[in-house]
Amino acid sequence: MKTRSWKKRLFAGSIFLLGLYVLWFGSILLRQRARREMPAEKRPSTHEIQGVYHIHTTFSDGWKPLEKVAAAASRQHLDFIILTDHGNPNRASLASQGWKGDLLVLAGSELSVSRGHLVALDFRPPDGTFAQNAEEAVREVAAEGGFTVIAHPFSKTRWSWGEVAGYAGIEIADSDSMIKRNFLRAIPYLPALLLSPRIFLLKTLKRPSQSLRKWDEMGAKQAVYGYFSADAHLAYDTLFSCFRLHVFLGEPLAGEFEQARAQVFNSLRRGAFYCAVDSARPAGGFTFWAESRGSRFPMGSAVPLASSPRVQLRAEAAFPFAVQTRLLRDGEVVLRSEGPAISFPSEGPGAYRIEIYLLGRSPLARDFPWIISNPIYIREDGP
Ligand SMILES: [Zn+2]
Ligand SMILES: [Zn+2]
Repeated sequence: MKTRSWKKRLFAGSIFLLGLYVLWFGSILLRQRARREMPAEKRPSTHEIQGVYHIHTTFSDGWKPLEKVAAAASRQHLDFIILTDHGNPNRASLASQGWKGDLLVLAGSELSVSRGHLVALDFRPPDGTFAQNAEEAVREVAAEGGFTVIAHPFSKTRWSWGEVAGYAGIEIADSDSMIKRNFLRAIPYLPALLLSPRIFLLKTLKRPSQSLRKWDEMGAKQAVYGYFSADAHLAYDTLFSCFRLHVFLGEPLAGEFEQARAQVFNSLRRGAFYCAVDSARPAGGFTFWAESRGSRFPMGSAVPLASSPRVQLRAEAAFPFAVQTRLLRDGEVVLRSEGPAISFPSEGPGAYRIEIYLLGRSPLARDFPWIISNPIYIREDGP
């Protein structure tokens, strides 16, 4: 008799706990659904478009052919995608660039070089291959009109740091290292893999402190731009909803392919873009700029302090929900503000950038910036 009542109690307790778990989990899913319906307002003047960078297809080790990958991108309402199939260079992937309906398909190549993986973008395909030595590869890609981004510097192959060799960018967060490193913290959300995989992915996100620190350190010496990297090999829909680049074109995206391609790559070269976790909340409509002597310097640009010691840093956005905005100078927070708008007189030279955090209930970890802007570099002697 006694054992039976003990078992009964255990059973009832388990059902109760399971019920609580289902309620808790259901509320997360429902909140997320409501959130996704919220529209993002964009500023017409910036001609902002959004896309995803660092994607593998069956041209290398991705699981899906370009047609399926492009279909996933269109379902996620992306304006562009940037393929980065492995190869030196990956000529098939490069040859596949063009419009796929309303989607602009661009491609670079992920090179395996002496220091790790290096993404080469916007280059003329060389007659042979690029050098295996990292510094030489950077120079050779530049000689072919291209630029380079250090891929996943602290995971997989890891980057071995040497001289600063003219890299135009660095990946500050990538899905692959987030999932591998932070899988344990996402275990309570495992059922979400079936019901809402984007929530599971969001739960694997933890502040990428190491790469942010490295980025700030590099930025003190040269302009180097930060990229959210999907590093997508599979689960394209989920990854495309999460790690996005929001690019400012300054004018409407051209219909002619070569022109449109140049527009996107030129904006990336100038750092005229910000990174956002769009699956936590839609992130369009943010701007960050500096004002000096009546001139406006957009995100990514360098402001020469010599011409005017008074530089005002400003950010704006029309988000219909609560956020906290932080302004950082060389990686140190110099201003915290509730809401998306700031206006701040610069405190001398430095790399100034913005991080925006979601307030209130959010599936995104508190320490993970929902938006990371590219810096504005205020330099003593100009660019
Ligand atoms: Zn790689
Ligand atoms: Zn890759």
